[in-house]
Amino acid sequence: MSDCLIQNATAVLTGLPEERARLSQGRCDVRVRQGKITAMGALVPEPGEVVHDATDRVLAPGWVNTHHHLFQSLLKGVPAGLNARLAEWLAAVPVRHRRAFDHEAVFRLAVRVGLSELLLSGCTTVADHQYHHYPDMPFDATAVVFDEADRLGVRMVVCRGVATQVRQIDATPSPQIAPEPLDLFFRKVADDATRFNDTAPDAMRRVVVAPTTPNWSVKPDELREIARFARSLQLRMHSHLSETPDYGRHTAEVFGCTPLAFVERHEWVGPDVWFAHLVWMEATEQRLLAQSGTGMAHCPQCNARLGSGTAPVVELLRQGGKVSLGVDGAASNEAADMLSEVHMAYLMHRLRHGPDALSTDDVMRMATAGGAEVLGLPGIGTIEIGQAADLASYRLDSIAAIGLHDPGSAPVLCGRSLQTDTVWVAGKPVVQRGEIPGLDRTRLAAHAREAVQQIVQTVAS
Ligand SMILES: [Zn+2]
Repeated sequence: MSDCLIQNATAVLTGLPEERARLSQGRCDVRVRQGKITAMGALVPEPGEVVHDATDRVLAPGWVNTHHHLFQSLLKGVPAGLNARLAEWLAAVPVRHRRAFDHEAVFRLAVRVGLSELLLSGCTTVADHQYHHYPDMPFDATAVVFDEADRLGVRMVVCRGVATQVRQIDATPSPQIAPEPLDLFFRKVADDATRFNDTAPDAMRRVVVAPTTPNWSVKPDELREIARFARSLQLRMHSHLSETPDYGRHTAEVFGCTPLAFVERHEWVGPDVWFAHLVWMEATEQRLLAQSGTGMAHCPQCNARLGSGTAPVVELLRQGGKVSLGVDGAASNEAADMLSEVHMAYLMHRLRHGPDALSTDDVMRMATAGGAEVLGLPGIGTIEIGQAADLASYRLDSIAAIGLHDPGSAPVLCGRSLQTDTVWVAGKPVVQRGEIPGLDRTRLAAHAREAVQQIVQTVAS
C-alpha cells in the first residue's frame, strides 16, 4: 500500500532551507504514488484512493540518522560505564561485552530493538556503523541488519567496520576483538557490495566502508588503500574522528599533524566521506572540513552523556559545512530516539552560542535533508514532488504539544514526549497510530530481558 493521499495536516515541514522550510500557504495535502510524492497542495481524492486524515498532526520528512551502533541496543546503562569518559567507557562497555554478541539471536534482537525505537520516533533511514566484525565471526552480521531493516521497512545503510590493529584499550584477550586482515576485509566488503549495495538516489540498501577510527584502527598506508578501494567500488566512507581531545594529542604525537590534516593526507576527505563526532577541531580543521564537503554526524546526546564536549556545529554551518545528526549507540546514549536527539541539538548550541544560533527549522533540516546529503541519498530527506515518500506525522494532541503556539515547531521543541502517529517509508506505512504493525512489544521486552541476563552472565564467566 504505497499509494495514498495525506490530507489536512496542520503544518507541513519540508526539510528545505529558510523560507522554503514550511508549506504554509493554504492546505497542503500530499499525494503518494509508487512510493514517491507526486502532488502537493489542496488535493481532491481520486476515485478509490486511500485517504489518510492528518488533522491535528504535523507532517515532516522522516529523520535520517547518520551514525549508530545497533548491537549496543541491549547495553543501555551498564553500571561500569555510566560515569566513565570515552576511553574507559569503551573498555568497560562495548569492548568488554562484545563476546556476548557472538550469537546471532542476541545480535538480531539488539538490531530489532534499536530499529523499533528509531521508527517509533519518526526515523526512516539509519546508518549503522558495524565495528564488531572479526575473522571467523559465526554469522553474517551485515545480512542480519539488512534482513531486520527489511522486516521493519527501514531504509538501511550498513557502514562495514574494520580494525586491522588493536588499540591498547582493546587488549583484553578475546577472539571477538581480534584484528581483521585488510585483504579479508576487502573480500568481505566487495561481497557485501555485490549482494546488497543499491546506487539509486533513494536506495533501500547501501554499503559503506568504515574503519572504527582512522588514526588507531588501521595503519596509515592501509587508510589510503581503503580509500582507494572504496572509491574503486563507488562506496562512501565513514569513521569516528575527534570525539575527545585524545584524538588530537595522539595524532600530533605520532603523525605530527591535526586529525583532519592526517585524514586529508590519506585521501579521507571529500563529499563521499563523513565522520561521527568531530567535537574537537581547530579552526583550520573546520575550514578544511567545510571546504572539502566532508560531512559530520553530530551526536549531541552521546557527547553530553560521555562528557566529550560540544561539537562546533554552528561554526561549520556558518562556513557552509555539511552537518547531519546521529544518535550513536544506545550504550552511550540510552536511547535510539531522534525526537530527543533533535531536542538536544537545539538546546546544546543555543546554550553555547545564544538563542539566535539555531532555529527549529535549522535543526529539522540538519536531521533530514542534511542526513540525506551526507549519506549521498538525494532522493530522500525533503518533502517535494519527486522525492521518496519517507514521512512522519506527529500528534498535536500529545500532552507535550498542548499549548504550543507554533505547531510546526513541535518535532524539535517537544522532545521525546511528542507522540508519533504514522511513519511511511517509500509510501508504505511502517508505524500506524503510534505502533509498529505486527510488533509485539511485550514479547520483545521479555526477550530483551532474557538476553540482557545472558549478556551479563557471559561477561561475568
Ligand atoms: Zn559511534
